[in-house]
Formats: sequence, structure tokens, C-alpha cells
Amino acid sequence: MKRIGILTSGGDAPGMNAAVRAVAGKAMAEGLEAYGINYGFAGLVAGDIHKIEAADLDGVIQRGGTLLYSARYPEFAHEEGQLKGIEQLKRFGIDALVVIGGDGSYHGALRLTEHGYNTIGLPGTIDNDIPYTDFTIGFDTAVNTNVQALDRIYDTAHSHDRTFVVEVMGRGAGDVALWSGVSIGATAIVVPEVDWSMEAIANKIKHNRANGHRSNLIVLAEGVMGAQEFVEKLSEYGDFDARGNTIAHMQRGGNPTAKDRVMASKMGAYAVELLLAGKGGLAVGIQNNQLVNHNILDLFESKHDVEVSLDKLNEEISFK
Ligand code: ATP
Repeated sequence: MKRIGILTSGGDAPGMNAAVRAVAGKAMAEGLEAYGINYGFAGLVAGDIHKIEAADLDGVIQRGGTLLYSARYPEFAHEEGQLKGIEQLKRFGIDALVVIGGDGSYHGALRLTEHGYNTIGLPGTIDNDIPYTDFTIGFDTAVNTNVQALDRIYDTAHSHDRTFVVEVMGRGAGDVALWSGVSIGATAIVVPEVDWSMEAIANKIKHNRANGHRSNLIVLAEGVMGAQEFVEKLSEYGDFDARGNTIAHMQRGGNPTAKDRVMASKMGAYAVELLLAGKGGLAVGIQNNQLVNHNILDLFESKHDVEVSLDKLNEEISFK
């Protein structure tokens, strides 16, 4: 093996650059060349591929987004697209690949391995919705961004005796909401994985207000409904002077936290070790602080474990 290709795919996540740097850096340390593929599988098919020089990696670990850009390219689900991608790998002499992205991107990684190009998947998504890893790259940064935003909203909620419903990302998963909500002592955290009732939340707000608690923040996972819709439904149970807020794409950007940088660095270097050992079709993760790899096929058959006990914990310790 002489050349490793790297691409980022699906939604961008802070820490993807740290992962790219780790893969390229480790490849170079092993005497290999690293090739960056721009715009995910779309760039692979188009041949938007360049050699990564060591100097290109300066100042990269601290930057959010992805220096290799990302794209959604559904055509890669079809064999025709995959074969075009393989042609480009041959043209550039790339022997193996690392794909950084979410579970959709892992499908592409598996297809390439089936076509004879060992490919390793790294979990790059703020949603934390990938099985076999305790945390995905980008999750910690997104949660910390949300916490900063929620702390600011708390100030205005407290000043005006208001209720705020703050919608956070996570697609179908509640992890971002749970971690953000516990971190700010939310009145309620509403996620797809836990049963909840609007009436109970309304009663809790009424109880809080009757007991002199001036601010109520509800952290809502986007997988449940939108903030505005929630506010409208909540107001059927009383006048809470409620406002809906959406943190939206702000939580996808920004400099990655140290945790995301270190995790991405570990996983990126490990991916190269796996490729050097002749392995492919594997998804890398960190479980109980240990680097692990699992067959991508097994991963598709598993469900990501959401730490739903965080909701109960928040209920217990935020009782007012
Ligand atoms: P995120 O969680 O941030 O959305 P993701 O990787 O799950 O990331 P997707 O849009 O689902 O995002 O997938 C990213 C890309 O992976 C797709 O645009 C496509 O190029 C490729 N891909 C998705 N599904 C398949 C598939 N079944 N076979 C081959 N390639 C696929």
C-alpha cells in the first residue's frame, strides 16, 4: 500500500479536520502518501483529488467544518457511481480509503471495500447517532456550543420570567438535547426516545412559577418537532409567555473542543493502522475509552444506545 485517500461525507462536524490531519499525518509517518478527495463521494466520482502535503496540515486541527468539503451524493448508492469512483481511485493510484461521516457514508465505505478497496469509516457527525462508539466526532463541540447559547438564553428568560423552548439538532437521536439539557438544568428535555406529555410539562412550569422560579428552559430535540410548533401546543395549556428558539447550524460550526480533537486524532491514526494491517469494511469507535473496530455490516444491524437515563437524572436534580 502506497497511497491512502481521505474524504468527508454527509453533514460536516467540528473535528473532521482533526481526523483528516490524523489520517494524513499517520500515513506520512508510515511512509505513505495521503490524498484528499474533495466533496465526499461526489468528488471521488468527479476526480476532485489532490495530494496532501505536510504543510497543508498546519493550522487544521483547530478549524471547524471540513477542509475537504462535504456533499450529499445519492448517486453513489448505485453501482454505476461506485464504478466511476473506482476508476478515479485507479487513476490516482489510491490503494485504500478513510471515510469520515455518518451512517450513510458508511454504506459508501462498505461498497468500496466490496469492490476491493479497503475502506475504514470514522464517525463524524454531531448527532452521536452511530452504534459502537460512545461519542462521535463533533458531538462534544456541538453540545458545548449549545450550552453557551442556552446560558445566554437563560439570562433573558430569568430577567423576563419567560419560558423558552430551544430546539437543538440530532436528527432522530436525542443525545444532543440530553447532554445540552442536563448541562443547563433544563425544566424539561424532550427527546424521541422518552415518553413525555405536554400537560406534565405545562404543570411543571406552573409549579416552578408558583414557587418563585422565574425562568424555564425546555430543550427540544429536532427529531420530536420544531420549536414553534411546540410553543403553540404548549400555549394550549396556559399563558407561559413562551418563545421558540432554534440554534440550528450554529451548533455545527466553530473550533472543535479538545475532546473532539483528541478523539479524532486517536481514531484517524487507528484507521491507518487497520489499513496497514490489510483490513477494510470496518467502523472505528471509542468505547469505554478504548479504540474499537466493528464490521460495518454489524453496525447497520445495531441500534445506537441513547443514554436515556440522563432525562431521569435531570428530572430528579432539577426538581423545583
Ligand atoms: P449525517 O449523519 O451527517 O447526515 P451521513 O453520512 O449519514 O451523515 P448521508 O447523506 O446519509 O449522510 O450519506 C452521505 C453520503 O454517503 C451520500 O450522499 C452518498 O454519497 C453516500 N451514501 C449514502 N447511502 C449510500 C448507499 N446506500 N450506498 C452507497 N453510498 C451511500
